[in-house]
Amino acid sequence: RLKGNPLTVSQSKARTVKDNISVRFEDVAGCDEAKLEIMELVNFLQHPHQYRDLGAKTPKGALLSGPPGTGKTLLAKATAGEVDVPFISVNGSEFLEVFVGVGPARIRDLFIKARSVAPCILFIDEIDAVGRRRGSGSCMNQSEQENTLNQLLVEMDGFNSSTNIVVLAGTNRADILDPALMRPGRFDRHIYLGPPDLKGRASIFKVHLRPLKLYPSVDVEALCRHLAALTPGFTGAEIAGVSNEAALIAARHLHQCINTEHFELAVERIIGGVEKKQKLHLEEKTTVAYHQAGHAVTGWFLKHADPIFKLSIVPRGRSLSSSQYLYKEQHLFSQDQLFDRMCTMLGGRVSEQVFFHRITTGAQDDLRKATELAYAQIVQFGMNQAVGPVSFDLPQQGNALCERPFGESAAQLIDLEVRSLIDAAFHRTYQLLVDKREMVEKVAKSLLEKEILDRADLVKLLGPRPFKEAPI
Ligand code: ADP
Ligand code: ZN
Repeated sequence: RLKGNPLTVSQSKARTVKDNISVRFEDVAGCDEAKLEIMELVNFLQHPHQYRDLGAKTPKGALLSGPPGTGKTLLAKATAGEVDVPFISVNGSEFLEVFVGVGPARIRDLFIKARSVAPCILFIDEIDAVGRRRGSGSCMNQSEQENTLNQLLVEMDGFNSSTNIVVLAGTNRADILDPALMRPGRFDRHIYLGPPDLKGRASIFKVHLRPLKLYPSVDVEALCRHLAALTPGFTGAEIAGVSNEAALIAARHLHQCINTEHFELAVERIIGGVEKKQKLHLEEKTTVAYHQAGHAVTGWFLKHADPIFKLSIVPRGRSLSSSQYLYKEQHLFSQDQLFDRMCTMLGGRVSEQVFFHRITTGAQDDLRKATELAYAQIVQFGMNQAVGPVSFDLPQQGNALCERPFGESAAQLIDLEVRSLIDAAFHRTYQLLVDKREMVEKVAKSLLEKEILDRADLVKLLGPRPFKEAPI
């Protein structure tokens, strides 16, 4: 379908905001780290000479990834507002046209526009539409898409130290992008925006409550905390939706101002709209909380395990949750330490089994690490009686099967011993978590409520760790 005048079809439909961008960082809440990273990146737009005089290669682009509605577009625009440069935005899908050659022509046109207003920030939303890994698609337009992507790479490679354009790209499918896009000198920085945690949600509510007319008796801070607690898993866009809905409800009820109840009704309405997602979300969240609590409690009560200092069920990057340990600067490990570490790794899977009598895919990474550690003890550290005090350098992953440095019978023995070491760790952990069932439950419930627990929280829940440990 031909849109508009055929003579202008090769022009990019990018929107340019030249000046008076009204959005600032204070309008983007709950992502301080991302703001810092992005400011570092665009700093040179404000001081180009300083960078050029030093001979620095200036950055060209960054990828903003994360689920829809987490503020990628908002952050890009606010950045332009902060450094006071024009903001050009375009959607990746606008380059996919049925006519051969139109995509690349629009890319060229886009960069001509950008150069003419530089210094500026160019935002390409949904870059995956053009940035899909080459040779992966099966649609008719594939070669056109590849030509468009190639043109984009050519344009970015053509930047020099005086180009003064930063290209930001938004996507929620960073996993399908062509690796060439991420090479140095292209989108070589990666900034992730995830769903906000409890504190983040409260601060986003605060931003969106600012323009609303509330009853003077409403305590805004308390209201924001209350609403944040009601909205686990909500993105910034959904929070904006709640705030607007509350105003609509107040108007419908002929109120002069908005009260707490209006907000609560609005939350219910938005949850209703995304009910399926929320249900799944809560169930998953519970599983993740018990999984993490399993790691924490196992480590807490095993003498040689590494001290844990932070536990979280807020998704970060591509992982559903995290636990952070303080690994000592240490080069020699005893068998006891390695065994306790294996048990702690297995604690997540074991807890899921103890509490839900079913297992999920969430433990894959834990199992991989525990398996690696078991193998290392047996074939590298010489810690197994049956296999003996031997050490083999294991070939890198992938060709382990065809390049084993030992014979078939040794291989069988090793596999058996690895298996029984993991079984032993598993049974010990299982016994421990059955004994400490209530502890796991306490930690999991607290995690569901607070989402993040630090060391002091754990001491409150579990009591001090029953072993002497080096001060943290
Ligand atoms: P994305 O580009 O990641 O899909 P947007 O930037 O388009 O998300 O967000 C849509 C709207 O949601 C924004 O215009 C804003 O009103 C709200 N929003 C999203 N994230 C935030 C945030 N961190 N702080 C304040 N508002 C936000
Ligand atoms: Zn785990």
